[in-house]
Amino acid sequence: MNIKEFVVKESKEISLKDFNPSYTGKYNANNKKAAAKRLERNKAKMAELQDKLYAHDRHSILIIFQAMDAAGKDSSIKHVMSGLNPQGTQVFSFKQPSKEELDHDYLWRTTKALPERGRIGIFNRSYYEEVLVVKVHNLVKYQKIPEELIDKNIWKNRYRQIRNFEDHIYKNGTTIIKFFLHLSKDEQKRRFLKRLDTPSKNWKFSAADLKERNLWDKYQKCYEEAINKTSTKNSPWYIVPADNKWFTRLVVSEVIVQTLKKLKMEYPKLNDEQLANLKAYKEQLIGISN
Ligand code: ATP
Ligand code: MG
Repeated sequence: MNIKEFVVKESKEISLKDFNPSYTGKYNANNKKAAAKRLERNKAKMAELQDKLYAHDRHSILIIFQAMDAAGKDSSIKHVMSGLNPQGTQVFSFKQPSKEELDHDYLWRTTKALPERGRIGIFNRSYYEEVLVVKVHNLVKYQKIPEELIDKNIWKNRYRQIRNFEDHIYKNGTTIIKFFLHLSKDEQKRRFLKRLDTPSKNWKFSAADLKERNLWDKYQKCYEEAINKTSTKNSPWYIVPADNKWFTRLVVSEVIVQTLKKLKMEYPKLNDEQLANLKAYKEQLIGISN
């Protein structure tokens, strides 16, 4: 799969309306099986690469999921995770900030949650909420920032701060993958109705979701701007078609595998002395079992 189809280049301004949320590439409802097979293959590959990442212990991977409600963040994460070793993986979900979190700068809570070397960290929502929901609902005034420091350049400044932050962690070994799950408004409606009609899904529906849906256009505009301002060569955004969950998962797995493959990683090599020791240990063990 050519993942370049989904990446947002640093040099190019994109318009979300040019991306089709129901795009499925060469796959369609009739050859969904082939997509599922490829997803399984990707999961196996991911597990292999994660093992190397852990052993090499230099790089870390940060995977960010952002999307409108019901776009499939949770289920994509569930699928990605099912291909990984839980010991080397962490998932963090970011909701409305707590009192303690508001007593710090907006990058504090996510910075604390960054993955260690050798690990894969998944953010279900992230510091990008700071230029999305915070912008849509004008929440800056609740963030306890000294008033004299807030001016009309706040969003421009935040984009720059985010770019700088991502550059900083990238240059220290964190590879960042950012997914925007691109859902259509119609498909969101269908999924909300399903949540309302299916008892086991009822809990997933909240009145707040409808409120946010009414601000759809505003959100799309904010997403578009945030993506354009913060997609960089080293920390790119991928716009993933989200109307077909099976395709969303496939693209996500494909991007992760291809990104991991590009990293220079190797299993630690033992020197001659260590190898000689291993030989001695083996002889000892064989001796013991006798
Ligand atoms: P799901 O609905 O699948 O459980 P979710 O991520 O939508 O997952 P919710 O508890 O429904 O979780 O919503 C969390 C809310 O918190 C979202 O509306 C999000 O925009 C909001 N949020 C996240 N970060 C911030 C922030 N920094 N400031 C204000 N609101 C935030
Ligand atoms: Mg929600």
